[in-house]
Amino acid sequence: MAHEEPEPMPEDDLDWLGDEDSLTQAVDEEQLQDEAANAWLAAEEAYVPLDDGNGYLAVGGTDAGSIVSALPAGSSPVGKTTAPVVISRDDALRGDRPVYLVHRGARHANLLPIVMGDLHHKKGRSLTVGAVVSLPSAKASKNASFFDQASVAAMRIADPQCYRLDDKILRLPRNPIGKRALEYAPYLSCAEESDWLRQVMDAQRAVGANLLLTPGRALNPDDPQNSLDTAFQEADQFLALTERGERVALNLTIPSRWLAVGALRNRLLDEILDQDQFDVLYVRIQWAQTKAFAPTEDADLLMGIRRLANLCQDEGRSLLLPQTGITGWFALAHGATGYGLGVSGSEQCFAEYAFRRGRPGQQQAQRYFEKQMLHTIDSSSHDVVQLVPGYLGCDCLYCPSLFDAQPWSHPLAALHHIFSMGALTARVQEDSARGGRHAAVRRIVAAAKRWSSGLPPLGSGDVPRHLAVWDQAL
Ligand SMILES: [Zn+2]
Repeated sequence: MAHEEPEPMPEDDLDWLGDEDSLTQAVDEEQLQDEAANAWLAAEEAYVPLDDGNGYLAVGGTDAGSIVSALPAGSSPVGKTTAPVVISRDDALRGDRPVYLVHRGARHANLLPIVMGDLHHKKGRSLTVGAVVSLPSAKASKNASFFDQASVAAMRIADPQCYRLDDKILRLPRNPIGKRALEYAPYLSCAEESDWLRQVMDAQRAVGANLLLTPGRALNPDDPQNSLDTAFQEADQFLALTERGERVALNLTIPSRWLAVGALRNRLLDEILDQDQFDVLYVRIQWAQTKAFAPTEDADLLMGIRRLANLCQDEGRSLLLPQTGITGWFALAHGATGYGLGVSGSEQCFAEYAFRRGRPGQQQAQRYFEKQMLHTIDSSSHDVVQLVPGYLGCDCLYCPSLFDAQPWSHPLAALHHIFSMGALTARVQEDSARGGRHAAVRRIVAAAKRWSSGLPPLGSGDVPRHLAVWDQAL
């Protein structure tokens, strides 16, 4: 699988590092032309009261996704529902509800708070919304205002992405630290300086993070012990710099071999077990991917993720799996506390970089997430699948406009994806009374496998091949 030729596509369709400067112009143009998405941004202000009567959640208008203490003059709450109170970071980390981390990437970032607020309103009793920004990808002021607006997020993470320094260990695009990244994240130029850790920490504090990450340099599978020792030493020093009330997650970046190969996996898990000063883990796993938005089918890697999640659950640690998309959702079955996803292909999976040849004139793929298949497919396949008896249409707010829009609205398809995955995450919790989250995931996967086996032939990339492997791994 890892050796298949990657599917051809325009390079920027994957948006490897999520840096704004590489995409801004194209995305601005896309959005200007996207009337359907613009209508969402121009929607009227709408507010619903919080359960405890202390404040309101904005579910439309320029404040969407924010909790405000009082209604602006002249507005009144809409509908009859209320929204849950946003829980504290520490309650969120306890993991009574799965944590759903939304990554702010370069695409359609201004639309994300809308869907985050919508999710909190409708599903916030069964999931906790969190927000992740990338420090090297955007100006600090933009990241800070994203946190401000998306104040439904109980957890705010400003990822320092120091793994960009490790292009000898990871497979990264050429020049992973561009001029802009250095400007936005100057600590990336001075990892040798004595106060480097403080710089990495201060950059996160400055934008308003409430869960601080250790630098997260990549662990080298060819030099396992040294690299584990270095990472944990650095993390201990980082921990020593925190102040009262601050909380740290151990940030690990690992090539998938660390989880897929038994000997390396045992070494990593033993180390985690020993180092119990870290009760929150933020683990980014790089694996080879042949098709954007397709989850991993690598049974060894899935077993590794399972062991890691089991260990964390047994030891009362919170495991967060950033940038994993639906593979992270699967890990909820085994004890992961939460996972992250975003709009771009790179936010569904921290994929090994591979040069992808675009075909001349190739357009960005029109993707649609099918919740009954647990898979993202081409819109042409969606047209086929939706005619199959038993198909359940999506009831999110965005789909009616998406299917009315001509041409295809990439931002609305993204909002649908993020909402539906959130709803699926909430469902794991809602359905956990019988057999816990493991049984809930198993039932959802089994139903998806059954449903998908009766579909007419689809393009090879649109067949949900992962379901058989997942079914086995549950
Ligand atoms: Zn939808």
